[in-house]
Amino acid sequence: ALYEVPDVSVPRYVRVNTLKLDTDSALCELGKKYSVEKDNLLPDLLILPPGTDLHDHPLVKNGSIFLQGKASSMVAPALAPEPGWEVLDACAAPGNKTVHLAAFMKRKGRIIACELNKDRVKRLKETIKLSGASNIVVLNEDFLNIDPETPSYSKVRAILLDPSCSGSGTAASRLDHLLPSKAAGQDTDMGRLNKLATFQRKALQHAFSFPAAEKVVYSTCSINQIENEDVVKSVLPIAESYGFQLVTPFPQWQRRGLPVFEGSQHLLRTDPAEDGEGFFIALFVRKDATHSAKT
Ligand code: SAM
Repeated sequence: ALYEVPDVSVPRYVRVNTLKLDTDSALCELGKKYSVEKDNLLPDLLILPPGTDLHDHPLVKNGSIFLQGKASSMVAPALAPEPGWEVLDACAAPGNKTVHLAAFMKRKGRIIACELNKDRVKRLKETIKLSGASNIVVLNEDFLNIDPETPSYSKVRAILLDPSCSGSGTAASRLDHLLPSKAAGQDTDMGRLNKLATFQRKALQHAFSFPAAEKVVYSTCSINQIENEDVVKSVLPIAESYGFQLVTPFPQWQRRGLPVFEGSQHLLRTDPAEDGEGFFIALFVRKDATHSAKT
């Protein structure tokens, strides 16, 4: 959305960019002015009171903390690539999850950040610069056109796929109907949702075809079954043919996938009302990966 929606009902989460600052130092610095505590699930996430405006805060300006919600901050740790791995962020801009991956991997290994849209590539590069990460390669390319068999990609061990989606889980989208220019029920536009779901399915299938991929995480900021459980269900046979199976990211998290197929309990959902935003995460792991990246 082009406008900022002040959401007064949910806490303001900030993710500490551990490439630049450790969590305790950020806690201490922010604690001088705000009431702040650590999140109980994610070690690099801090919780501030709802409505706290940090946009001009020096720690935001210098890239020490990112204004990133809790659900969005769960995706890189759900994938949990090991330091030293080669990792692909398939739909990367503006790059919040890309730089989170870099922090998670403690600067070790290489991250390829792929983004189709040229203007958004600029934002991606700005985010990367701000984060201080130096092991990210940016690619202005259609993820679907990347050939998994070429030597530059045949070593990719983990893929983060956060494709374009309806955004129906975001606060901005939920308040859309308040804008006179936007008719209510935008997300009942089945044509648009079907188009998005078609791309999401294709992109997931493409991710499974990377020969050394051991883990693929799929996420959306949508609450629509058609972009979430339905996409996962439809690609499951292909996933299984490549040796991937669904596993449970954050087993202690209570909200799971809608019970529309066997295995949907592995999926993770966040609830817009309870968690501030509606998000979806599916994690696929391959037990018998070829490990062609290993020597
Ligand atoms: N992961 C990002 C983050 O956390 O900051 C947000 C990604 S956003 C939901 C999806 C992105 O995918 C958009 O920037 C869009 O331009 C890009 N995209 C759409 N189709 C693509 C494709 N075929 N190949 C690569 N990127 C694509």
